[in-house]
Amino acid sequence: MLTALNQDGKLITLVQSIKRKDLIERLRSDVYFCPVCQESLILKAGNIRIPHFSHKRNTACSIFETEPESPQHLKGKKVLFDFFLNQGLNVSLEHYLPDIKQRADLLVQTPSRTFAIEYQCSPIVRSILEKRTEGYNSGGITPIWIIGGKPYQKYQKGFFTLSDFHWSMIRHKEGIGQYLLSFDSESLRFFLLSNITPISSRKVSSSLLSTSFSTATLPLRFKQDEKNEINYPLWLQSKRKWLQNKVLYGNLVHDYFLKSIYSSGHNPFLLPPICGLPVPYMECFYSHPIEWQFFIYQECLSKIQVGKRISMKYVIQKVQSLIKSGFISPRYFPLAHKLTWKNAVENYCSLLTEREYFKKIGEDLFEMVKEIKVPNSIDEAMKWEEEIFRKLDNGRSRNGSKIDEYCFFFGSVAGFSKIR
Ligand SMILES: [Zn+2]
Repeated sequence: MLTALNQDGKLITLVQSIKRKDLIERLRSDVYFCPVCQESLILKAGNIRIPHFSHKRNTACSIFETEPESPQHLKGKKVLFDFFLNQGLNVSLEHYLPDIKQRADLLVQTPSRTFAIEYQCSPIVRSILEKRTEGYNSGGITPIWIIGGKPYQKYQKGFFTLSDFHWSMIRHKEGIGQYLLSFDSESLRFFLLSNITPISSRKVSSSLLSTSFSTATLPLRFKQDEKNEINYPLWLQSKRKWLQNKVLYGNLVHDYFLKSIYSSGHNPFLLPPICGLPVPYMECFYSHPIEWQFFIYQECLSKIQVGKRISMKYVIQKVQSLIKSGFISPRYFPLAHKLTWKNAVENYCSLLTEREYFKKIGEDLFEMVKEIKVPNSIDEAMKWEEEIFRKLDNGRSRNGSKIDEYCFFFGSVAGFSKIR
């Protein structure tokens, strides 16, 4: 912690640039108390971490449990505090809100709104993330979660590996799609990973933009050079690799996907080409698109014939029960409730309509107009697959609306008060 009460009840913060020696001499003689639980605190001013206060061991304080004070977290909080202060905003450090029993890393006030900045350096359970977000919202405060640490692991240009922690922090914004905002307290840069599109459950294609802390102003802006779009040939390649690995290393006893394939008499390499298509919102499943789309094919699409009808509601119900029985795993985004697997299923059905397998004949009703065939040989499977992916590649919208700048925090370029 960087804040504590002294014996006179005055709030002491360790952000002022007091010379180290002076600071230690001046502060050592005093005693300190936690502003939240009132227990006494220890001042730690060693050589490695920046000076900070710490609870004694075995404390029951709620702050102690939720906040591991890594050097990175302490430094990041301090630097971000300076940043908001230099922008002329009213900012307080480690601000405790008794009404909702939460402590914001930073509480930033603009003339019209209050923001809680959470600088999150370590993984946090999704339910806590959600609870804290709701707590702020209920108090009329807008939370802004910033991931702390180095940028995302890049494995080739435009491709990154995300951890489950990263996935849990995903947010959504019109124009830039799924994104992550982070600040690295070592290089002192803000990073924006935008247009996140999964290639597999951990790998994504995305664009990484950054801006330096020293020149940044509010609203934070990131320059964008080109729009990131799905690379279909690469996607197909990675889909094939995923399937090969699954067949080679998958567990026949515990793997529902493999079990279902074999028990229904299918060959994993001879699936209809409509199993495993990239669609918007596919990241809302942990399961690979081949898996959930195969289950949709098996449970719904393979059971109807040309000329027969099916409703979206029915497909959604089937997927829901597959999720319930553990055949498919949905991924949950506590900071982006709009991202749901239902969107992925709907997009999948629209894609099949575009690809002329179905015709939309009502609000929620589709008629099958083309038979979904199962290939007879590997050659045929690959040919059909390439055909459908080529069509996807040609059919994508090339409207080329280029966005040059992204604005974050406290609104549009026009002013602080306009946000969201
Ligand atoms: Zn405490």
